[in-house]
Amino acid sequence: MGFLNGLYDDFLSLLFPRVCYGCGKDLVRNEKLICTECYVLISRTNYHLQAGNPVEQLFWGRCKVEKGAAFSFYNKDSRMKQLIHNLKYKGVREIGIELGRMYAYDLKQSGFFEGIDIILPVPLHPSKKKARGFNQSDMIAEGVAGTAGLPVDRSYLQRVSKTATQTRRSRYERWINVEGIFRTGNSAAIENKHILLVDDVITTGSTIESCTSELIKTQGVKVSVIALAVAIT
Ligand SMILES: [Zn+2]
Repeated sequence: MGFLNGLYDDFLSLLFPRVCYGCGKDLVRNEKLICTECYVLISRTNYHLQAGNPVEQLFWGRCKVEKGAAFSFYNKDSRMKQLIHNLKYKGVREIGIELGRMYAYDLKQSGFFEGIDIILPVPLHPSKKKARGFNQSDMIAEGVAGTAGLPVDRSYLQRVSKTATQTRRSRYERWINVEGIFRTGNSAAIENKHILLVDDVITTGSTIESCTSELIKTQGVKVSVIALAVAIT
């Protein structure tokens, strides 16, 4: 059967060539979504091995983040940028799950998940989620959770206001712009929990800052954060 399945896959790939979502090259049998070369060459930050790394530094003096890390560099790695583009704008949800799984595998080796109780994907505003059909952070969180063996909560944290596009704003303006854009559910549900926020790309850190400020209002809550990529400027 394996042989026949293989033939069938080869036949299908003649009709519908499958290409890597990171580099566009043809995938070979057994490769799924991301080719082996991309898997190996995605430039890892390895920040999870470095206390006081640049992701954690981003929040110094802004809000208390226990641990912070990112899988790759957004602006230095065209493969990761391409993968995230295909996830967010081409609707290939499986990329989020797969990258989440890949990253969680590295994190798990280093004990990063120890002490963490629950995973919260950074929510999109409902209208944006409706337009896109899904929240990319939900997909990433799903992959991470499966490997980490942790539960995911998709309803506790909600985005209540849309913010204007932030790319042309100054750091200070961005900072004010994110105050109070998230709302939480019944705080008893997260009391004394260590929450892991999951996002796709960390740029200024203002979204994470806004989520964290809201979450740590609850007694005993700690927040850590991971993302698929960080845009270091
Ligand atoms: Zn590739």
